Amino acid sequence: MSTLPTCPVCGASILVPANVMKHEIIPCQDCGTELEIVNLDPLEVEQAPEVQEDWGE
Ligand SMILES: [Zn+2]
Repeated sequence: MSTLPTCPVCGASILVPANVMKHEIIPCQDCGTELEIVNLDPLEVEQAPEVQEDWGE
């Protein structure tokens, strides 16, 4: 078992799906902050940048 990453905002442990992929965005179950998987081994998360829906249409 690897150590669960913790939310950089509230410090809660993040439940990461087993099949998570790098750069995937998952929400913190505690505070709802969107977190990006920045590393898989070891698991590390960072607060995802606030990106508005701007895809340059
Ligand atoms: Zn949190």
